[in-house]
Amino acid sequence: MKPAISINGIRKNFGEVPALSGIELEIQQGEFFGLLGPNGAGKSTLINIIAGLTRADAGSVAVLGHDVVTDYRHSRRNLGVVPQELVFDPFFTVREILKIQAGYFGLGRENDPWIEELLDALMLTDKAEANMRALSGGMKRRVLVAQALAHQPRVVVLDEPTAGVDVELRKSLWEFIKSLHQKGHTIVLTTHYLEEAEALCDRIAILNHGEVIALDTKDGLLRRGIGNSMTVSMTTTDPVIVPDQLKENIKQQNNNYLVLQLNRQQDSVVQVLDLLRDNGAEILELQTEAADLEDVFVELTRNSNSQNKSSNKTTASGLIK
Ligand code: ADP
Ligand code: MG
Repeated sequence: MKPAISINGIRKNFGEVPALSGIELEIQQGEFFGLLGPNGAGKSTLINIIAGLTRADAGSVAVLGHDVVTDYRHSRRNLGVVPQELVFDPFFTVREILKIQAGYFGLGRENDPWIEELLDALMLTDKAEANMRALSGGMKRRVLVAQALAHQPRVVVLDEPTAGVDVELRKSLWEFIKSLHQKGHTIVLTTHYLEEAEALCDRIAILNHGEVIALDTKDGLLRRGIGNSMTVSMTTTDPVIVPDQLKENIKQQNNNYLVLQLNRQQDSVVQVLDLLRDNGAEILELQTEAADLEDVFVELTRNSNSQNKSSNKTTASGLIK
């Protein structure tokens, strides 16, 4: 089976600024793949290259085996991209936009039932005859999703589809994207909302400064470093005297409030609490929380930033010599 998307040695500079420095990534058919990274990491640039909208300086991308530059029509036929920016033609109605989009790929009337299904699933039926310029931001976002799907592409790439979208629409978009995945579409999702990636994606790549700094299953990421940790927060009747063997675990302590960071695999919460009680602590309230994808994300990007800084320093001292 050909990969849904294969990315080989992609590099892209904007003037002096390296946006992507040699990306290697293979996304398999049927995956729900998350592409995460802080602002400016290069996610949208990579997506624009996959979509054939931006030319890479080096490397190649293929969608279901079709090179996005030399075999643009076939790669585009298999690909639906929801762009990050709200770009659209203000003069057409919603239904017209979807039909025109399908028409680009040679689809005519036989595709109409699918377009009606899309309008319905994205709650756009009432607005089908409205002009794009008359729609609210959230509506436009939904039209962009519908437009990307009008030709029933097998691979769907969504660039922050829920940014700035209210909670209710976000949830209904999630449901819709999930149903597409269940029908067999490959989904690639970039998002700001780590909880969204945690809820939806099976495998995740984290991009930072144009490089893939982590590529793993969601569960694999959650087992890494801080992913293994949990925090235990407690309120006590009197300030606790923390025994020596737990001193390193203190994350926060003021007056009657204490937060400990424990290792999920190695430490036993029950034993820790017993130890505190032996030291005279009377616990009034207790809350435990496992690390989530956001914690892992923050730790990984922070580590890669500090590595970047130290390598920059080497270059700087090299220049002084
Ligand atoms: P992300 O989508 O992860 O936030 P982008 O791909 O938009 O990141 O941007 C990656 C880097 O490339 C950033 O430093 C950004 O400023 C730069 N960049 C993106 N597009 C352009 C452009 N058209 N011209 C110049 N610089 C750009
Ligand atoms: Mg972006």
